[in-house]
Amino acid sequence: MHRLVDLRSDTVTVPTPEMRHAMSNAEVGDDVYGEDPTVNRLQERAAELLGKEAALFVPSGTMGNEIAIKVHTRPGDEVLLDEDCHIVKWELGAAAFISQVQLHTLPNQRGIVPVEEYAKRIHPGDDHVPPTRLICLENTHNAAGGVVLPLEYVREVCDLAHAHGVAVHLDGARLFNAAVALGVAARELAAGADSVMFCLSKGLACPVGSILCGSRAFIEEARRVRKILGGAMRQVGILAAAGLVALDTMINRLAEDHARARRLAEAIAHLPGFSVDLETVQTNMVYVHTEQPARRVVQQLETLGVLCLDVFPHTIRLVTHKDVDDRDVTYAIEAFTKVAA
Ligand SMILES: *Cc1c(COP(=O)(O)O)cnc(C)c1O
Repeated sequence: MHRLVDLRSDTVTVPTPEMRHAMSNAEVGDDVYGEDPTVNRLQERAAELLGKEAALFVPSGTMGNEIAIKVHTRPGDEVLLDEDCHIVKWELGAAAFISQVQLHTLPNQRGIVPVEEYAKRIHPGDDHVPPTRLICLENTHNAAGGVVLPLEYVREVCDLAHAHGVAVHLDGARLFNAAVALGVAARELAAGADSVMFCLSKGLACPVGSILCGSRAFIEEARRVRKILGGAMRQVGILAAAGLVALDTMINRLAEDHARARRLAEAIAHLPGFSVDLETVQTNMVYVHTEQPARRVVQQLETLGVLCLDVFPHTIRLVTHKDVDDRDVTYAIEAFTKVAA
């Protein structure tokens, strides 16, 4: 019997024994009345960690992003963002559906839209042109291979936006991966953003949940929108308890995931039929270019017990996470070697 190594996503991580223990013992109350002490503690911790006034626990990263867009904009406003970001590609057009905004997408290099490009597009609005109300950034950038947006770049975009009265939302689904990779505090990466979302349910290994952070006024309004979207929950301290454990125990260990991704990438890059742009391997993702159709490679790997995703016709994505250890990485490299032969 061979192993099963699941490299499809860091969302497949299961909660740690410590999380399960905390969940089963969580002190709870009705969070719709603001009476769940564990949720309140998690929100306070998260806000402090990201250097914002307040935070809100939300069921998913998608809901966190979409609430942020709704709060920052009015129908008919324009949002500037890169054309490969999660909000554009993988949220089913929710910004149009929920907020009735125009997403003005811009080309990017590895998740980066040149600051001058944003500068050219920002418009105050007139009788013909919709007002730019929001810029969204994504860090780490998923579709670009889990690359990190540099601190200086994030600052420049935020400064430009604010000089024009435009807000910035940071989709930081994997913000802690970016922080660990750069060796800076997450709050530094979030400093210029008016709102930030991060996921507890990815590399941080919680079963459910994301956090939206911002000013007190922003979070107050976000709370209303969350309710409208059906995202207000009751004794949700059971989930928040896992989040508190994650913030204590799961952030620093992300460096291990990054090291394993690097090892995978370097090994696969040498195999015939595969190539990897090693410069993009900065966190826990590896995008592998395949000469064969990616779908076929994924199927062959699956028969060997290695799961990954074909994200483009000739690209597969591998994601390392806490449920993939060194032996799993060795096993996955062996499987790739067999497929390459
Ligand atoms: C996963 C992800 C989200 C959405 O999170 P869900 O919890 O899956 O809704 C948003 N942005 C990025 C960059 C992501 O990778």
